[in-house]
Amino acid sequence: MLKGKTALITGSTSGIGLGVTRALAAEGANVALNGFGDAKEIEKLRSAIASDFDVTSIYIPADISHPQQLVGMIRRVEDEFGQLDVLVNNAGIQHVAPVTEFPPERWEALIAVNLSSVFYATRAVLPGMLKRNWGRIINIASTHGLVASPEKSAYVAAKHGVVGFTKSVALETAKTCVTCNAICPGFVLTPLMQKQIEARIEKEKISVDQARLSFLSEKTPSLEFVTPEQLGALAVFLCSDAASQIRGATIAMDGGWTAQ
Ligand code: NAD
Repeated sequence: MLKGKTALITGSTSGIGLGVTRALAAEGANVALNGFGDAKEIEKLRSAIASDFDVTSIYIPADISHPQQLVGMIRRVEDEFGQLDVLVNNAGIQHVAPVTEFPPERWEALIAVNLSSVFYATRAVLPGMLKRNWGRIINIASTHGLVASPEKSAYVAAKHGVVGFTKSVALETAKTCVTCNAICPGFVLTPLMQKQIEARIEKEKISVDQARLSFLSEKTPSLEFVTPEQLGALAVFLCSDAASQIRGATIAMDGGWTAQ
């Protein structure tokens, strides 16, 4: 379905971003990976995608909290592939603390990575997409873009911001073949989640299984984590013709969290 198209997925060296990248590549898209990590491990991931799916894959280690690096990465993808058709704004970080103890530098970093990058990337890719009159912008928000939890003020503010921004861009592009939507995952067992699980194990002196279950039972009626593969399949659907009138939507995949 995506043969001949190019996708850039921010934060795709791990977790959800990697799942989405592999799903898009499985549909034939050439992909640009981005994110941090061990250089050898990333090269393994990159070359596995190229050989598993017979596509071209490149890796660009831009820090998306710096707009210049982010825009530079987008221009490089456009230069190397001639076009950028699918942008997945996925990279994100978390910090958990009460507002009064929230370090201002963590607030600034979180807003830069989780929210401002979505603006800078969208602003940079849209002119090309509109010129070719086809594009998909998929923002990986969160259930925390729809509802809140305590001690996650920066994350909740950023993700609500992403949801609002998504709607605005969808309206601006409504008469074109460019769509912009947000996916709102519940808990997904990735390194981002793992850090919160480890903090709970440490604080409450419980086992890994108990900590996982305690997170799930707080929020998730299904008592199951969402998987990166399921989110990848949803991203692929949003790229399909069938999804061309899904615009400005916030699609929850959260085990029932926001149905409560
Ligand atoms: P993860 O920690 O596994 O992956 C995050 C990715 O972002 C990594 O590739 C990392 O290197 C990259 N990254 C971080 N800061 C970056 C920066 N400044 N520049 C470039 N890359 C950077 O996390 P994940 O759980 O896969 O999260 C992906 C997205 O999904 C995030 O936006 C997160 O908020 C969202 N999300 C996660 C969950 C969950 O339960 N894991 C739930 C809802 C939403």
